[in-house]
Amino acid sequence: MKLEGIHHVTAITGDAPGNVDFYARVLGLRMVKKTVNQDDPTVYHLFYADEKGSPGSDITFFEYPGAPRGRAGAGMVHRVVFRVASNEALTFWEERLTANGVDASLSGDSLVFEDPEGLGLELHALETEDDALVAEHPEIPAELAIQGFDGVRAYTNDPERSRKLLEETLGFSPTGDASWEVRGDKRGSFFVYDQSTERGLQGAGTVHHVAWADEMDEHDAWQKRVAQSEAHPTQIIDRFWFLSIYFREPSGVLFEIATLGPGFATDEDPAHLGEKLVLPPRFEHLRDQIERTVTPIRNPREDWAKADGGG
Ligand code: ZN
Repeated sequence: MKLEGIHHVTAITGDAPGNVDFYARVLGLRMVKKTVNQDDPTVYHLFYADEKGSPGSDITFFEYPGAPRGRAGAGMVHRVVFRVASNEALTFWEERLTANGVDASLSGDSLVFEDPEGLGLELHALETEDDALVAEHPEIPAELAIQGFDGVRAYTNDPERSRKLLEETLGFSPTGDASWEVRGDKRGSFFVYDQSTERGLQGAGTVHHVAWADEMDEHDAWQKRVAQSEAHPTQIIDRFWFLSIYFREPSGVLFEIATLGPGFATDEDPAHLGEKLVLPPRFEHLRDQIERTVTPIRNPREDWAKADGGG
């Protein structure tokens, strides 16, 4: 039983319109699902990914309108690293980010920057056999586009606390003192700790949790396996587009294990993912109320259709 790298990363935004603009327009990801937080259906849960909404490419945001900025500290992911194909891609992104008012710093094969609310992001140029998980965008050539997650970096005051759970329970393979590879049959990601004793503060621009991918038919076994460790997993929760369990690893980072299926095309035409507000069936009766309360946001793809003269 192996985890197939990162499934998704979920963070917090206080500004849904600015968040859509940055991830869908500037970074060129596809907004594949516009829905509400299943634990608080008055606010958005926005999903950005490749063209198909693939696990491994999916960064999602809970919206808390006007939420003050947080700060990553011990027990929190502080940087989300995406793959790009080449150093040429890094040059392209350095120019594109700068043109959009984002400070980006290029060093070696990485470009490091923050989203508008201070979430740490990095583009890492590397060669890999893993599929390129790419979204279409009229200003971003496919060969330069973001290709999905490379990994995440978290803070801890003591990486050794987490080693047993990561290696023995979750099957992470050590690649250094505080770094691991999480690789399944199809795809892999890295997980790295950086040292920090600072207390974090959850808020806008911070990561809420990182989800690792598993196979549908192994989900139950993963829940049981984590339950036998020092962590305390939730029961299996049906998130409609995937099944999930959640637990905190010993350094404090909130982990989820989420199934590779059934996926985002379960309730929407793959050609029109993320265009309208989608509610899991158990929230459908609240639609009128939800649509009146949530912040209006625009998918930048609506503007491309106009520019093409299409509908
Ligand atoms: Zn999640």
